[in-house]
Amino acid sequence: MGVGILNDPAVMYSGALGSCPPVCILKDNTMASLYKMPITALSGIGTKKARMFEKLGIKSVGDLLTFYPRAYEDWSNVEKINNLQYGGIYCIKAILAAPITDSVIKGGRIISRGSVYDDTGALQIVFFNNRYISGMLKSGAEYFFYGKIVSDRYSAQMVAPTFSPVSDGMKIHAIYKQTAGLVSKTISNAVKQAISLMPKNVNDPLPEQVCKTFSLCGLREAIIGIHFPKNKEQLETARKRLVTEELVVLNLGMRNLREHSRGTSGIKIKQDYSEEFEKYLPFTLTNAQKHAISDCCKDMMTKSSPMNRLVQGDVGSGKTAVAASICYTVIKNGFQAAFMAPTEILARQHYETFSQLLENTGIKIALLTGALKESEKKQIRSDLSEGKTDLVIGTHALITGKTEFKNLGIAVTDEQHRFGVAQRAKLLGKGENPHLLVMSATPIPRTLGLIIFGDLDISVIDELPPSRKPVKTVAFDSTQRSRVYGFIRQEIAAGRQAYIVCPLVEEGELDNVASAEEYAAELMLKEFSDIPVGIVHGKMKSDEKEAVMEKFAANEYSLLVATTVIEVGVDVPNASVMVIENAERFGLSQLHQLRGRVGRGSFQSYCVLISDNNSLTVRKRLEIMCSTNNGFVIADQDLKMRGPGDFFGERQHGLPQLSIADFADSKSLELSQEISDYIMLTYKDLRCDELHLLKAEIDVLFNRGGQNSLN
Ligand code: ADP
Ligand code: MG
Repeated sequence: MGVGILNDPAVMYSGALGSCPPVCILKDNTMASLYKMPITALSGIGTKKARMFEKLGIKSVGDLLTFYPRAYEDWSNVEKINNLQYGGIYCIKAILAAPITDSVIKGGRIISRGSVYDDTGALQIVFFNNRYISGMLKSGAEYFFYGKIVSDRYSAQMVAPTFSPVSDGMKIHAIYKQTAGLVSKTISNAVKQAISLMPKNVNDPLPEQVCKTFSLCGLREAIIGIHFPKNKEQLETARKRLVTEELVVLNLGMRNLREHSRGTSGIKIKQDYSEEFEKYLPFTLTNAQKHAISDCCKDMMTKSSPMNRLVQGDVGSGKTAVAASICYTVIKNGFQAAFMAPTEILARQHYETFSQLLENTGIKIALLTGALKESEKKQIRSDLSEGKTDLVIGTHALITGKTEFKNLGIAVTDEQHRFGVAQRAKLLGKGENPHLLVMSATPIPRTLGLIIFGDLDISVIDELPPSRKPVKTVAFDSTQRSRVYGFIRQEIAAGRQAYIVCPLVEEGELDNVASAEEYAAELMLKEFSDIPVGIVHGKMKSDEKEAVMEKFAANEYSLLVATTVIEVGVDVPNASVMVIENAERFGLSQLHQLRGRVGRGSFQSYCVLISDNNSLTVRKRLEIMCSTNNGFVIADQDLKMRGPGDFFGERQHGLPQLSIADFADSKSLELSQEISDYIMLTYKDLRCDELHLLKAEIDVLFNRGGQNSLN
């Protein structure tokens, strides 16, 4: 965009609130009626503009009110002109010295210039392509100007500043996410109108008693304060109220989901078969694995409620063997087991591992994924419902309505953070309160864990199998690539295998980002023409992916070029080199997951991070990767630093998407927990009258973005 946010003359000034007359009278006092009112009801918004609003997800007046600002410009620190520095963003309070002058440059674009001064000096202001500016700023009047200081050939200037007359007294200005043709200021103006339509005594989803007890302001006050705060305090009050409400909604929604797995379990496990199972393993279990297994058996044999346990262990710590042992015990006690994995590749791999392990046990295993033919799926489903299959391993296909079990005893989810919480609940819903075992390599912050799992029990596998050598990690730039290729060659000559991972490339992205396909093609033609190279990427059909993975696992390919489809869980112990291109594009936890694909056997393994990005955060991230192999340390840093694909950023937790609250905000999470307890204690049932608006919000939040739908 680049021309500032002042292109719409109709909405230049952020004047006092409530200046727009209501366009219609509302029939009731709920926000719901505002959600039914299209934004074309607002003046200045026709169908064309409405379409732009729709791109931001705003269709109704209600949507607009809950389209919270992306950021705020703080105009409360007014800087004197002689203190301004190049590159800085400032708010100044200055008088326009003379009328703004417009000049037309090449292509018909207009540049508007003016000079302003305060008691310390003078400054140029400049606007681009806005022929209304000259009529809006009055010579001799005093304004706040907010913008970036740059140098032009002659002097300093403030480029495309936002401004408002000093008499307005606005100190904090909301900035909205913009889209082509729709600037923040236009949105702000529309919000202002929307607020004027809000009933004076709008019904509040949070009962008054709750607001009073926890010192939260009312809904109307919060909405005004979040969009047009008079000062920081008002903004904070508003934000606290809205954040808390959203987290309470999340919290209560999660409790509602969990009710599925409450009460007594009909799955009585009488005997522990884990020792018997160990005989089938080609290795001895670590003590940490044994502990996790015995924790689970204790849960299932002694508690009246179903097991509800998370097994948390770093990549490569051997979580699969733990899960296999538990499934074995449950099956031996006469029940069925379901094991859900987030990707086809992983499901198939687990299927193969389990099939081998349990080969001589008489246990019947099936694989159920979306990629199977309809007829195959039908057969597997009918075997399951008749109890002919003991253990089913699969993807989301497991939880579609059509899958039924005869007597599901345990549901296991691998890499639990990849699933929506509702999906887990759905799997549990396939049985009569079956036991639940979830496995994850990503430690979840305690407060968030409480919300996701409630009173989930946790076993930590804090020990790697013996004979593992820590992966050696280095960070290189692309000039060292040929050295890296030489190294790969050397490892392959020694019998090992290697991965090269390229980030997912979306259409229209810069072409200096390596795409897996092109990259592989080039390697095969030039660098490694004598070496069998496989390629997997997200756009391939799953049977194609599987075929490639199988060949790689069988060492028919020495080198695998891949996108992040291999990130989760893939296990090829003979692979010893992981090269990650454009490493800056991955978050810490993702890099750690990727690195976890090597170092799984007894060979010394290596991870090479390639990046030409020199930004401080990227360098810090790569440094952390080079300095530690400890997944807990890395997860901790990931939470602190935030980056692409981090725990909170890209759906790494399976929770619904929030609009204002932040999963990293443990203080607010704790408060919401407290309030939710209070609400359930006071009102007992979500379906009661006092909570009907809150209940409606829960339904909306959990239906957002398909994946976490309650249905
Ligand atoms: P993750 O915890 O990442 O899911 P896996 O269960 O895939 O790890 O195990 C990683 C590798 O370690 C597998 O090849 C598995 O066979 C092997 N493994 C697991 N437990 C042990 C053990 N106690 N001793 C030796 N190897 C083990
Ligand atoms: Mg695993």
